[in-house]
Amino acid sequence: MSTQAQGVEKTSPDFEVIVIGAGVAGLYQLYRLRERGIPTTVVDAAADLGGTWYHNRYPGCRFDSESYTYGYSFSKELLNEWHWKERFSSQPENLRYLNYVADKFDLRRDMQFNHKVESAHFDDAAALWRLTFTNGRQLSCRFLITGLGLLSAPTMPRVAGIERFKGPSFHTYYWPHEGVELAGKRVAVIGTGATGVQVIAEIADKVGELTVFQRRPNWCAPLHNRPISEQEMNEIRARYDEIFDKCLRSPGGFEHEPDRRGFYEVTREERVALWDRLYDEPGFGIWLANFREIFMDEAANAEFSEYIAERIRRRVNDPAIAEKLIPKDHGFGIQRVPLETRYYEAYNRDNVHLVDIKETPIECITETGIRTSGREYEFDIIVYATGFDAITGTFDRIDIRGSGGQTLRAKWKDGPVTFLGLQVHGFPNLITVAGPQSGSSSTNFPRSIEVGVDWVMALLEFAWQHGYTRIEATPEAEERWTRHVAKMYESVLMRKAKSWFTGYNDNVDGHEHGTIRHLVYNGGAPKYRATLEQVAADGYQGMRFS
Ligand code: NAP
Repeated sequence: MSTQAQGVEKTSPDFEVIVIGAGVAGLYQLYRLRERGIPTTVVDAAADLGGTWYHNRYPGCRFDSESYTYGYSFSKELLNEWHWKERFSSQPENLRYLNYVADKFDLRRDMQFNHKVESAHFDDAAALWRLTFTNGRQLSCRFLITGLGLLSAPTMPRVAGIERFKGPSFHTYYWPHEGVELAGKRVAVIGTGATGVQVIAEIADKVGELTVFQRRPNWCAPLHNRPISEQEMNEIRARYDEIFDKCLRSPGGFEHEPDRRGFYEVTREERVALWDRLYDEPGFGIWLANFREIFMDEAANAEFSEYIAERIRRRVNDPAIAEKLIPKDHGFGIQRVPLETRYYEAYNRDNVHLVDIKETPIECITETGIRTSGREYEFDIIVYATGFDAITGTFDRIDIRGSGGQTLRAKWKDGPVTFLGLQVHGFPNLITVAGPQSGSSSTNFPRSIEVGVDWVMALLEFAWQHGYTRIEATPEAEERWTRHVAKMYESVLMRKAKSWFTGYNDNVDGHEHGTIRHLVYNGGAPKYRATLEQVAADGYQGMRFS
């Protein structure tokens, strides 16, 4: 179906709703719209569903959320049927899960793959969005909902010669679906974020030689993954209500809740006792079940960081390598903490080498490898684990134009401005589920996604019931929310970090240094949910309907 017939543009949309993205958010959004009988289609650039879990196929890829807190909570039947095989489930299993959900609820028939959105323009006169795809198709809708993913715009380093390398080389996001033969190969990994850390630990004993090019180390902590038995899964099933309730109450949307004792109210021995326990426990507890001062107080953070540094020193045989792996420019937990499985031990292997590219910067990629200021290295494979243009990057890669033709790219040039992370003034009927400054941007993703999608459904219901065809955030509400999000950064040490939390990425023009881009909401999941509920209860103040 095309919106254009003999040059005349239709004024009724092809679909009431188009959802961009067939990942975790898009699937649930479609489920709810289908339930309500709303003509909807989900479009995705990929050849199949899954979003993040469709794309990222690098070895070691898994989430750091407890699996049973990551699944959807909306269907008891689904919860009873699905058996999470591991405490922290891996990419293949996660993709299987999303396919299982799509098939169970027959979602696939409303999805269109290989549909990469090139542009989305708001037609003021008809109050609808017109989309153009790179495959030449055009579609229109009343409401455009984005489920684009937080980390779906991979970025390559700005290094000369990348295209010259003769062997296989790829960003982790594009790890070949057919797999890569690693045995006996000389492999380079550039980047030591959550992705690099997973790849390095996983392939260290599978390759011939592994050389890690590290610019800045990260503070990592053990994941402690293990299988979930049938009996344990049954116990989890019996506790699902309690588990989800706990996630809803915790700031991060996880089972882990902060230790509410004051850092300085307990003795050093008591602090260390907590840290010893958390270091040996699975998941993000070491980060999120810690004292709250860790996130806000320099001295508390420094004391804890030194504790972790000591744990790293105990795990790495060569003291000089250990020191290189300990961050010196930021404290623990003010960047996203990568969880790892024997990551530090990988550096004890004879076939694993660490190159500190702060000392000897990469000069260029050559036909046969990498040249640093120190020497030339030969490789068979180069892996770029160099991260993403986080959250706004996926929006920037689409030509999105709102009312009067203004571009979202220009509006967000110095950082996003939104109302609740869900709406943008000047972009009517665009709803950015999992967008910047929304609750999902910094919490256990599916938990906040369900909250966000449910709220969006209530908002749309409100519009449909009143016969409104246009919804738009007011400039005042947008300004208030954006200021509120910015203010929250002021109290957390995270504001000082060069990480995607602060919109930093020196591989993207304008995102290199200087001013923070306020991408994430730091108020925690319960506060975000309470705000959403209040806005709805007040008849959606801050939004204009017509
Ligand atoms: P990232 O955290 O942004 O790390 C990118 C890495 O590449 C950093 O070590 C960075 O160094 C390095 N790098 C970037 N440009 C470079 C250059 N030009 N030269 C040399 N090194 C360069 O990206 P990521 O590891 O892909 O992780 C992104 C996010 O994805 C994570 O924070 C997490 O939220 C999510 N993730 C989650 C999981 C999970 O759930 N387990 C796994 C993977 C990823 P600098 O630090 O010096 O900039």
